[in-house]
Amino acid sequence: MIYNFSAGPSVLPKEVLAQAASEMLDWHGSGMSVMEMSHRGSEFMSIIGAALQDFRELFAVPENYKVLFLQGGAIAENAIIPMNLAGLKGQPATVDYVNTGSWSVKSIKEAGKYCNVNVAASSQAQKFAAIPARDTWKLSKNAAYVHICSNETIDGVEYHFDPDVAADTGNAPVVADMSSNILSREVDVSKYGVIYAGAQKNIGPAGLTLVVVREDLLGHALPVCPSAFDWKIVSDNDSMYNTPPTYAIYIAGLVFQWLKRQGGIKAIAATNVAKAQLLYNYLDSTGFYTTRIHKADRSTMNVPFFLHDETLNDAFLAGAKAHGLLQLKGHKSVGGMRASIYNAMPVAGVEALVAYLKAFEKEHG
Ligand SMILES: *Cc1c(COP(=O)(O)O)cnc(C)c1O
Repeated sequence: MIYNFSAGPSVLPKEVLAQAASEMLDWHGSGMSVMEMSHRGSEFMSIIGAALQDFRELFAVPENYKVLFLQGGAIAENAIIPMNLAGLKGQPATVDYVNTGSWSVKSIKEAGKYCNVNVAASSQAQKFAAIPARDTWKLSKNAAYVHICSNETIDGVEYHFDPDVAADTGNAPVVADMSSNILSREVDVSKYGVIYAGAQKNIGPAGLTLVVVREDLLGHALPVCPSAFDWKIVSDNDSMYNTPPTYAIYIAGLVFQWLKRQGGIKAIAATNVAKAQLLYNYLDSTGFYTTRIHKADRSTMNVPFFLHDETLNDAFLAGAKAHGLLQLKGHKSVGGMRASIYNAMPVAGVEALVAYLKAFEKEHG
């Protein structure tokens, strides 16, 4: 049995891959692969329509929000967001960012090309081991928006609350990068102005970006914003202003159907918590392995950990691979190990990892 702990692109449900394989050459008797269809034909229109409807239902998207399918990933959104929102309160805009890890750092740097960025709070001095408490954030009264990264994929910290900033900022919308925890737990979408995510962690293949945006935030793009990234234009064209990433949308749609068969987000969230507890409980029970993140802010999706004796790292990874436990090496900026345990990672995969952690400790401890 193989279990793939990659941070992204990452594991997809086996059933989804099997279904895609069976439909690869001939989708539903159409005589065509999904890759070969016109994006405006009735076949693909039914695929994108179902994907959109299933996502709205799973993520409980309120009526006054649009769901857009874009390209460029979360990194492109780092520029697309200021280009769409910096005009909200006049120019030059001030925007607030909370710095909780590597992905926040990237977002802040890019936004600085378009606006004055105020870093309202940062855990950089604590090596990103915690989410700064909401009451320590120094927000701007006139911020066009407040940006957070809800789950830091590299550092392993996650918000376990939906931040409320309305009173401090005069109702600035919260913009959240949810690339690595979207659809992993229930979210009160109405607390956010914009939620965005690259697909390749918890949704489907790389190449597709989801943007959930409140309707009143459309139509404020700066004149320099490329038309294909102007959310109003994309929305007015039902995500077909340019050719969308059709095959990635098809696979995402199959993942949404799979999630519904698992019982939806409430059910998958309970499984995700159980998986994370299994792993953290074992890591906490031994001095052979260590974790560096404050318990209250630990990510349910990405679990960085370290061997106390780092000279054993290579042996650990080689043994893991021999046991079918793949891609456990930590990000180069953090080091150590990282287990990404997204929706598609079965409980049995985490059990196999914990069994290996125990066995390796017994051999080398
Ligand atoms: C993976 C990731 C990104 C980068 O996504 P790209 O698709 O490479 O643009 C940004 N933010 C977070 C939180 C991520 O996990």
